[in-house]
Amino acid sequence: MQKTAGIHHISAMVNDAQRNIDFYAGVLGLRLVKKTINFDRPKVYHLYFGNEKGEPGTVITFFPWEKQLKGRIGKSQVGVTSYVIPHGSSEFWEKRLHSFGVKVEGSTRFGENYLQFADPDGLLIELAERKEGPINTWQMGDINPSVAIKGFGGATLFSAQPNKTAEVLENILGLTCVGEDAGYLRFSSEEQIGNVIDIKLTPTVRGLMGAGTVHHIAWRAKDEEELQQWRASLLEKGYYPTEIKDRNYFKALYFHEEGGILFEIATDGPGFAVDEPLSNLGEKLMLPEWLEERREELTAALPKVEIRVLEEEKE
Ligand code: ZN
Repeated sequence: MQKTAGIHHISAMVNDAQRNIDFYAGVLGLRLVKKTINFDRPKVYHLYFGNEKGEPGTVITFFPWEKQLKGRIGKSQVGVTSYVIPHGSSEFWEKRLHSFGVKVEGSTRFGENYLQFADPDGLLIELAERKEGPINTWQMGDINPSVAIKGFGGATLFSAQPNKTAEVLENILGLTCVGEDAGYLRFSSEEQIGNVIDIKLTPTVRGLMGAGTVHHIAWRAKDEEELQQWRASLLEKGYYPTEIKDRNYFKALYFHEEGGILFEIATDGPGFAVDEPLSNLGEKLMLPEWLEERREELTAALPKVEIRVLEEEKE
């Protein structure tokens, strides 16, 4: 059976592009690795943040749209996105988040301590220390590689049918169930990043898609051949995967699992350096070839944004 290496990326909806960049790049220190548009709705940005190279397992993406109504985190969504930070860096992050006025709460599950907080749109984010996983060499302001977010630790799924979702993780994606603790069922992959998935087993309110919620979670496929095999096995098992779509930076398919969460499977390559040099990722608005002729019109329709280092408020 095919096994995913873990999370490829997570995509969410937010209201304001600059506020989004300020939080994920300015406060959390991730690199804006791609500034493009939503291929299905070209007048909306698609912003990608990750480690220095924007490797699979580190990338969170956003569709910032001011008119988007506020959603509610709940069933049939990814409820919490978890990041891993280097061993011993919790204190740095607690202080940093506090200095930006972000309220942080601590919790423990599976013997790990989590710092949980909400981003400016209400998305729930967690940080957990882990020794495994390569360091992130991207330097942003005061955030150096000894404390920088390495990538996803994992995600917590708020499924409408936890048992059905568990089946998909095990029998289709090839994750291994590692146990249950504090109302969560845990799965893991063999990778060292984006590799730990929890399913919340206790009741959750009904979710509403909108700003401040996750739109979908994508799982890693090595290449297009593997993606095609996944498509075939999804069809065989009675799911309705989409055709394979060209997302420029990867190829992908989408399907709804029975717990209602939108899953994507995406190829590791070609990656974000396919249309601009690695040293300049995220600086320029990148458009797919078929939209290049509309560059002027689209640029005018999109809000102006900048990547900026933010100063902590000293007490
Ligand atoms: Zn996606």
